[in-house]
Amino acid sequence: MEYIDNYRHKGLRRELVEAVRDKGIEDQEVLDALNHVPRHLFVDNVFDRRIYDDTAFPIEKGQTISQPFTVAYQTHLLQVEKGHKVLEIGTGSGYQAAVLAEMGARVFTVERQKRLYQKTKELLPEIGYSTIKCFYGDGYKGLPAFSPFNRIIVTAAVYDVPGALFQQLKVGGQMVVPIGGDFSQKMARITRVADDDFDQETFEEFRFVPMLSGK
Ligand code: SAH
Repeated sequence: MEYIDNYRHKGLRRELVEAVRDKGIEDQEVLDALNHVPRHLFVDNVFDRRIYDDTAFPIEKGQTISQPFTVAYQTHLLQVEKGHKVLEIGTGSGYQAAVLAEMGARVFTVERQKRLYQKTKELLPEIGYSTIKCFYGDGYKGLPAFSPFNRIIVTAAVYDVPGALFQQLKVGGQMVVPIGGDFSQKMARITRVADDDFDQETFEEFRFVPMLSGK
């Protein structure tokens, strides 16, 4: 398959970035990352025309590619720095992982749906994101073999933050995670201030698909 990113896509992307900026995201590094990632290549062609609208879209297996505003919001809260080791729970389409890679992060991403894992693992290197490491597994367990992480981003909703994720965060590290029930969650940022001391800040409401256990 051939992947095309033409002037029309680039133009739509610039408009999307302006729309996200208008909604209150002023972090220029995040906006630049959004401007670089060819979002239309992460979904099936049917959505090609509307994929640069600021909305979520269905992918396979009842899952979604997050709304660009949501991706920008989470990425901004994460305060990623170049070279950071970042764990993402919920690879989905791979779009959020690509945005993190554009920010200079070393991305490790976990997906529990085998089909999505396989599809995204194949896609990412083909469109230039060969440094992202994809894993098939249950995000409730994190990725102990590669821990600790500077940052952890959870892109599915949890009632309770999995204990493994607390443990796999570096001291001084931060985790951004939507916490709440099925219909709405509050975005939270958790900082590991010491070995056994965590701080939590909460932000706006969002609606994510649930994080399910097992694979
Ligand atoms: N970050 C994605 C959006 C993901 S939607 C993107 O940019 O496209 C949430 C994803 O989390 C879904 O693909 C879902 O299958 C996955 N998921 C849900 N529970 C999980 C778990 N326990 N471990 C890993 N992935 C999980």
